[in-house]
Amino acid sequence: MKNDAVKLKAANQEEKEFLARLEQEAGTQVSLCYQCGKCSAGCPAAFAMDYPPREIIRLLQLNMLDEAINSNSIWVCATCETCSERCPRGVDIASLMDTLRREALRQGKKGDNKVAAFNAAFLSSVKYLGRTYEAGILLQHNAVTMQPFKDANLGLPMMKRGKISILPARIKGRDQMKKIFERVQEQREEN
Ligand code: SF4
Ligand code: SF4
Repeated sequence: MKNDAVKLKAANQEEKEFLARLEQEAGTQVSLCYQCGKCSAGCPAAFAMDYPPREIIRLLQLNMLDEAINSNSIWVCATCETCSERCPRGVDIASLMDTLRREALRQGKKGDNKVAAFNAAFLSSVKYLGRTYEAGILLQHNAVTMQPFKDANLGLPMMKRGKISILPARIKGRDQMKKIFERVQEQREEN
């Protein structure tokens, strides 16, 4: 569990090989990360993750591979690649997220219905506003998953610090965004 004390231990050979395989598949190296946090600061989905991108990398550095693979972060990640673009050390975090997701699937794991509800709320926000509206996504997600007061203690402090806004912001060219969604829907129906 995230809040339990972390017991560190040296990686055994099997764990070293497992991490090396994940790194090879992702084409990147977690040891390059110096934990600056720029990836988490730019991640549009970090607010809904149990471990934001920086912490996912830290888990891997600390040899806590199962914790990373069992996190909801890998399913919530939208593969937008903002984190990889921002990383001053060239860590391809988006690719690592993708690799962890594929590894989880290989192990027979998949995101639960809360993650599916989050993804639906996330896509709906992007479709209609052209960007993420964190407060709206959280409210919709919590309503659908029958946990209306979840994050209530976090919302106000985050708004006070300007981390999330009360009102949604819209981009120009939202029609184009809707057309993209319609095109994707058409392609789905064709296949
Ligand atoms: S931006 Fe790069 S160096 Fe900074 S915490 Fe994220 S992965 Fe590590
Ligand atoms: S690729 Fe995933 S982890 Fe990286 S910024 Fe985008 S949503 Fe966040």
